[in-house]
Amino acid sequence: ASSTSTRVDLDGNPINAITICMIGAGGFIGSHLCEKLMHETSHKVLALDVYNDKIKHLLEPDTLPWHGRIQFHRLNIKQDSRLEGLIKMADLTINLAAICTPADYNTRPLDTIYSNFIDALPVVKYCSENNKRLIHFSTCEVYGKTIGSFLPKDSPLRQDPAYYLLKEDESPCIFGSIEKQRWSYACAKQLIERLIYAEGAENGMDFTIVRPFNWIGPRMDFIPGIDGPSEGVPRVLACFSNNLLRGEPLKLVDGGQSQRTFVYIRDAIEAVLLMIENPARANRHIFNVGNPNNEVTVKQLAEMMTQVYSKVSGEPSLESPTIDVSSKEFYGEGYDDSDKRIPDMTIINKQLGWNPKTSLWDLLESTLTYQHRTYAEAMKKVIGKPLAS
Ligand code: NAD
Ligand code: UDP
Repeated sequence: ASSTSTRVDLDGNPINAITICMIGAGGFIGSHLCEKLMHETSHKVLALDVYNDKIKHLLEPDTLPWHGRIQFHRLNIKQDSRLEGLIKMADLTINLAAICTPADYNTRPLDTIYSNFIDALPVVKYCSENNKRLIHFSTCEVYGKTIGSFLPKDSPLRQDPAYYLLKEDESPCIFGSIEKQRWSYACAKQLIERLIYAEGAENGMDFTIVRPFNWIGPRMDFIPGIDGPSEGVPRVLACFSNNLLRGEPLKLVDGGQSQRTFVYIRDAIEAVLLMIENPARANRHIFNVGNPNNEVTVKQLAEMMTQVYSKVSGEPSLESPTIDVSSKEFYGEGYDDSDKRIPDMTIINKQLGWNPKTSLWDLLESTLTYQHRTYAEAMKKVIGKPLAS
């Protein structure tokens, strides 16, 4: 590869190498961001997480070309006195650490609120006190439900973007009642966003808030019984991948009528790199990062994944590839859902000139090829075995 020292930012200025303290670097997004930073830039990464399985390939062996530019620190930010020192050593902190799987929001609301609000507080405080820039990962879920979801089902206004398009600087945050503990996550994320925004307004802290809209791709979550707990419920990509690998029908929660827009992780990581390297354009902004062109209902997602999986695995699909399940049965009491999530792209377009590229079919094809290559053999062994105990 050619020298990375000649890279320039969006204003044509040369990019200086910085040190990034990345909290939650061992997760899905963190692993892709670390990969991007090692492959294409000369920045240094202090990678903090309780796990490093997803970035092992970047840490070992010592002969890797970026050896010395990435350093793993195994720590839990809930209780570790090294955190402030690591933030001080870096120019920029990126906080990805969170409990962020919907199956946890209503069943472990306390852990969810602590993880997404309380545990993020010291990170904000250390950044503010030490004049360090912070890129904080929030979620599209802070928008909650669309205004349109409260209109009668047959209202023509539902087709009007004014009633569903999610805009950073205009849309309200609409959550369900407190009994619907699903919203514990969204509410904790909303409050940490407000706190960070206030640190910017009152104390001049440099911050960028990212609201990911269903980023998906390789290494997302885990496959139950293979590289995660058999009873665990990951996010929809891994749930459906698991069903496909096992040759069982995909479970549609409450009929799979909710709508989502899915963006390929590699496209989304491009946006994050632009934020890292263009601080003047990204500071004090909240950015939607998603692909408004990739909207489907969950049912349509299931059908497309079934088709794509059959193509990449060479295995025929089931005669009835999906099955309906109630949310109470699947997630338990207190589950609720976002009806529709289309990101407005005006702000990220204007500030960073970013646009997603990959179609849903293409991103599913590369992701399911990865899932098949990574898990199909292991799955055969597990399915072949009689159940232990
Ligand atoms: P992930 O679960 O794969 O990654 C989170 C990482 O944080 C994990 O590796 C976990 O071990 C680590 N972590 C959690 N608590 C920690 C602690 N106390 N100390 C140290 N490490 C800790 O999830 P992800 O998909 O990579 O998400 C990253 C961030 O983006 C989260 O804040 C999430 O809320 C947000 N987000 C992601 C999406 C998406 O589409 N993937 C959507 C909305 C929001
Ligand atoms: N879902 C589903 N079957 C599954 C897993 C999830 O129908 O096996 C639905 C879930 O109810 C939600 C959507 O898929 O409507 C997306 O779920 P995900 O866990 O990815 O997170 P969310 O987008 O809700 O944050």
